[in-house]
Amino acid sequence: MNYKDLADLMFPDAKEISYYEEKYPERNLKEGAIVTRIAPSPTGFTHIGGLYQGLIAKKLAEQTEGVFFVRIEDTDQKREVKNAISEIVNSLIDFGFEPDEGMISETDEKGKYGPYKQSVRKDIYQSYAKYLIEQGKAYPCFCSSEEIEEIRAKQEAAKIRPGYYGVWAKCRNLTVEEMIEKIKAGEKWIVRFKSMGREDRKIKHKDIIKGNVEFPENDQDIVIIKADGLPTYHFAHAVDDHLMRTTHVIRGDEWLSSVPLHLQLFQGLGFKTPRYAHIAPIMKNEDGNKRKLSKRKDPEAAVSYYAEEGIPKQAVTEYLLNIANSTFENWRRANPDKSIKEFDLQLNKMSVSGALFDMVKLLDVSKIVISKMTAEEVYENTLEWAEKYDEELACLLKTKKEYCLKVFGIERGNKKPRKDIAKWSDVKENVSYMYEELFEKDKNEYPYQVITNKDNISKILNTYIAKYYNEEDDKQTWFDKIKELAGEMGYAKEVKEYKENPGKYSAHVGDVSTVLRVALTKRTNTPDMYEIMKVLGKDVIEKRFQKAVENL
Ligand code: GLU
Repeated sequence: MNYKDLADLMFPDAKEISYYEEKYPERNLKEGAIVTRIAPSPTGFTHIGGLYQGLIAKKLAEQTEGVFFVRIEDTDQKREVKNAISEIVNSLIDFGFEPDEGMISETDEKGKYGPYKQSVRKDIYQSYAKYLIEQGKAYPCFCSSEEIEEIRAKQEAAKIRPGYYGVWAKCRNLTVEEMIEKIKAGEKWIVRFKSMGREDRKIKHKDIIKGNVEFPENDQDIVIIKADGLPTYHFAHAVDDHLMRTTHVIRGDEWLSSVPLHLQLFQGLGFKTPRYAHIAPIMKNEDGNKRKLSKRKDPEAAVSYYAEEGIPKQAVTEYLLNIANSTFENWRRANPDKSIKEFDLQLNKMSVSGALFDMVKLLDVSKIVISKMTAEEVYENTLEWAEKYDEELACLLKTKKEYCLKVFGIERGNKKPRKDIAKWSDVKENVSYMYEELFEKDKNEYPYQVITNKDNISKILNTYIAKYYNEEDDKQTWFDKIKELAGEMGYAKEVKEYKENPGKYSAHVGDVSTVLRVALTKRTNTPDMYEIMKVLGKDVIEKRFQKAVENL
């Protein structure tokens, strides 16, 4: 009896590994091409960190004319959630990180290196487990959970390192005959990898992001095939990333300490090891302390949050690039109109300890992104958002498309476009004064500033309409007339004049403008008032002034 007999008994139907080695040949890509992936578990929740990894993986593959694929790690069958795969894949596609290969919907996949869902790769893992058993590099373990618990209790009592290793690895030293006997007797088994490592020896490893790291060797005989016949993460990682010909494993840094084990597995299986890049999680500052963005505590941890808030995907992407490489910010400043495709992302420039997520900064990025959009784009995006989240706004947008385009066109498309919209959920509040139906509902007071005397305000508004307002005026004439009005009211026509003669004037032309602006919009700060008046039109302006006078 030898290992081969044992392996045949355990996996009688498993194919030779040469079958898979031929089926999934080395990829024929140009020198330096990166083949990478994301390998999410389908939990039904897409964390912003997952999207971040997707962006990085996609970008590196794209930059090097490599391949980006999505593999679903669903070997933990207890955790299955409905539509969880499409949830992840759709987020990636929505954000423009479309996979070249792998899962592309709940059930569909593309590419020649599949299947890309681990639960349907059982045969493959079993072939490789069989191969290891044949070589004497893996063995069946018959320990029950009670026995494992007993071992752990003894180790704890003796204050020694827990785990299944060395003398504690009971089944490791069974003879082949004993193993075969137990299997034939119907004892339940799992498969463990026979570690040749020693805890007192160190291995050195160079991670692309973390740099040189040193760890003790792995000496645990870890489980590679579970009782349900499916692999553990570690084993599936080695087999899949080998067969899918991954060149770079880019993953969360919670896996960094598993590198010694993974290197051992690759070696035991006779695989070439991939390069590793361990990404630090996105962090959040809370009361001066840095902590991971948490699914439970932070709404912004969910990718769905950004759609709900109406933060454009492009802004989220740009911000994530900012987090990934701090050089992105300068690059963007120097190249305001370039596509992000032209930015060269560098793995080795990523933060080692975890970059901070800053919502204020994200919204600033978003303001810039939106400021570059055309009125039509703002309209379409706002409508798409409103259709899901704000019925009233959606209705308004649909019934008044032409008018809305004019509203969104105010101070847009010029050299210094307005930067006051950060998210689609802000739009309504932002432009409400441009719509009678919304303005009517505005219960705020009129925030007059320097000129507050009721008679003066009323005189300014009435005189302006009666004597100065003309729809046809160009901007200069329009402004000259406000100066005239200021003069007529006894205020300074120029700010300079006002400043040079303190005491002579109680207000200046700017203060008169403010009265007009407040009466029109109930705000002291708006985009260009000339453009606003043009869009509102004579009737509405008159109505607003009348209403303002009535409210004095
Ligand atoms: N399923 C693993 C996780 O979600 C994947 C890690 C990897 O990328 O290899 O953490």
